[in-house]
Amino acid sequence: MIPFLDLKAINAQYADELKEACAKVIDSGWYIQGEECDAFEDEFAKYCGAKHAIGVANGLDALILIFRAYKELGVMADGDEVIVPANTYIASILAISENGLVPILVEPNIETYNLDYTKIEEKITSKTKAILAVHLYGQAAEMGRINAIAKKYDLKVIEDSAQAHGAIYNGVKTGCLGDASGFSFYPGKNLGALGDGGAVTTNDNELADVIRALGNYGSKIKYENIYKGTNSRLDEIQAAMLRVKLRYLDNEIERRREVANYYLDNIINENIILPKVMQQENHVWHLFVIRTEKRTQLQKYLMDNGIQTLIHYPIPPHKQTAYKEWTEKEFEITESIHNTVLSLPISSTTSIGDVKYIVDKINKH
Ligand SMILES: *Cc1c(COP(=O)(O)O)cnc(C)c1O
Repeated sequence: MIPFLDLKAINAQYADELKEACAKVIDSGWYIQGEECDAFEDEFAKYCGAKHAIGVANGLDALILIFRAYKELGVMADGDEVIVPANTYIASILAISENGLVPILVEPNIETYNLDYTKIEEKITSKTKAILAVHLYGQAAEMGRINAIAKKYDLKVIEDSAQAHGAIYNGVKTGCLGDASGFSFYPGKNLGALGDGGAVTTNDNELADVIRALGNYGSKIKYENIYKGTNSRLDEIQAAMLRVKLRYLDNEIERRREVANYYLDNIINENIILPKVMQQENHVWHLFVIRTEKRTQLQKYLMDNGIQTLIHYPIPPHKQTAYKEWTEKEFEITESIHNTVLSLPISSTTSIGDVKYIVDKINKH
């Protein structure tokens, strides 16, 4: 079978270095807030081109802590509104509501699946404080337009970069395209740890300082608590794994682009809508998402032919029980995306042979 994602194979490529790095941490006797985390933060900040990177426990925490820090700084308060794409993964929205802020859902562009910037302004009110731009499936959102709107209305721009490490927009990497950015290192992400992990990047010294304290019990000096903080730190062992994998991230992205380009050039089934790429460097292909009205049949047919596919995502946030207050809302584009999307296998270990086989089967459907 061609698996959707073979994490074992992906990490096996780097097994010797990962094991060596792991042994080093075990032997050091130091497991949180040590040299590995410091070094990874420096290396990841440099990779993104950001002034600061702060390691945290996971991607959701990265986003939660950004909003929390803005509240501590008096930039946002309970009940303020944050614009967010309606078709994002639930974590983006949870980060907003978790902070007592109000998510304002905006439809995506049907071709790019990213926030439709032409629909942002009509949703702005006196309570709007920020736009949470999600680089969904690995393609950078249209940050030029989004930042221009934010500037006009004096809003913060926060990036959800969980799926888009290394994507470049107008020469700038994700993590540096807004005021602050949240990254996830969940094992299946393009830069994945061997467990949970996350980071915030920002060029804002004050914000970085508050986020660092918030993730460490609200403390800068041991046993002195400035904020009612939380515990959200990046373990030494995960930082060590990430330092190894960061060195190969650009290669991983290149491999994903080869797979994606093969799909784009060779899928000719007219029942299938291929993803639209703005520019090559905008997209790091965390997911290769096609759309088809015949999704159920196609998914079953591919599975019968030994090809595993997944749906990102089957239920839109406004139809989730967790947000039952939104069930009456209608987001036509979001719903049509959720009803038709299908993600094909793509990773650094998906061989061109596999991709050819998948394309051949799809074209024969
Ligand atoms: C994975 C993901 C997150 C959350 O990351 P975790 O590390 O799983 O907490 C947030 N936003 C998006 C878009 C994601 O894909």
